[in-house]
Amino acid sequence: MTLTWERHASDGQARAGTLHTAHGDVPTPTFMAVGTAATVKAMTADAVRSTGAGIVLGNTYHLMLRPGADRVAALGGLHTMMDWSGPILTDSGGFQIMSLSSLRTMDEEGVTFRSHLDGSPHRLTPESSIGIQHKLDATITMCFDECTPFPATHEQAKSSMELSMRWAARSRQAFVERQGYGLFGIVQGGVYEDLRAASVRALTDIGFPGYAIGGLAVGEGQEMMFRVLDHTTPMLPTDRPRYLMGVGTPDDLLGSVARGVDMFDCVMPTRAGRTARAYTSRGVFNMRNARFADDPGPLDPDCGCPACSRHARAYLHHLFRCEEMLGPMLLTWHNLTYYQSLMRGARAAIGQGALTRYIDQVRAGWGAAKIASEPN
Ligand SMILES: [Zn+2]
Repeated sequence: MTLTWERHASDGQARAGTLHTAHGDVPTPTFMAVGTAATVKAMTADAVRSTGAGIVLGNTYHLMLRPGADRVAALGGLHTMMDWSGPILTDSGGFQIMSLSSLRTMDEEGVTFRSHLDGSPHRLTPESSIGIQHKLDATITMCFDECTPFPATHEQAKSSMELSMRWAARSRQAFVERQGYGLFGIVQGGVYEDLRAASVRALTDIGFPGYAIGGLAVGEGQEMMFRVLDHTTPMLPTDRPRYLMGVGTPDDLLGSVARGVDMFDCVMPTRAGRTARAYTSRGVFNMRNARFADDPGPLDPDCGCPACSRHARAYLHHLFRCEEMLGPMLLTWHNLTYYQSLMRGARAAIGQGALTRYIDQVRAGWGAAKIASEPN
């Protein structure tokens, strides 16, 4: 009835599998390109498909404000509107309310907030968030939750997590089952092991076809994030997909795959692409840097995307210097292709029981310690 996930191989905590949905199958581990406003910025749907992407993400908060869920539904849902026939995951709006809107007031029932666009008042509850995601025709719906801020005291993280668990039960009640669709629960609890454990127990008692790990990549740093994953993923059911929300750099992704995560989303490759930052098999480059002005070589010799196979680094540099829109388009295309290639490599390596060797090789290509943080 609901969507399912099938495991093909394991390597330590890492798993390779297939997500079976109403809108097709997706091999995991997978990276979901972020299509906030029903578009992956600077990319046509065909271009997104050509990167190897199997599933994309949309944002409930943005789409409920513009163009509005009823309007999306009248246009046939997100799949039709975006020309994306594959699976789509929508977030619940909770994270964006916290990060974008002003004058939030939270109560047991839900959140009242003002739009970051025009200040108009809105309210989201677990029931209305699930209803909006239904209208958007999300293949994967996310429970409405509160993303616990970082830092938070144990007491703050506990009451926030417990509220999210009550909202998870209400989200489950509100969700309308459809063949090949599913609702994911979201583990909260901040950086506290006992709270993460309590959250996992509460969610597995309710029962979901997939589990997300929320409240990470909010400023705690990679070491702390990995510590939370080391503790949390082994508690999750082994036969359900695990989605780490809002993560991350290429190094974050590989480290999290090794810790048993199957799905990721992040604005990083698309946002970086618009600001001249390229993630490559040789590390991170800022294409505005003058050292590329006369460089005839490909951006990444190991990549087959249009930016790398048809153009020189010097041309990409020129496009950004002139602020031509093709620069962000090509670099977004490349970054998404690179992220997909990392996931493809990880899937193959897990199948061969060689994930550690694969990660070591990839990191050696970046020039060892300097990962995706310092562009050069
Ligand atoms: Zn490329």
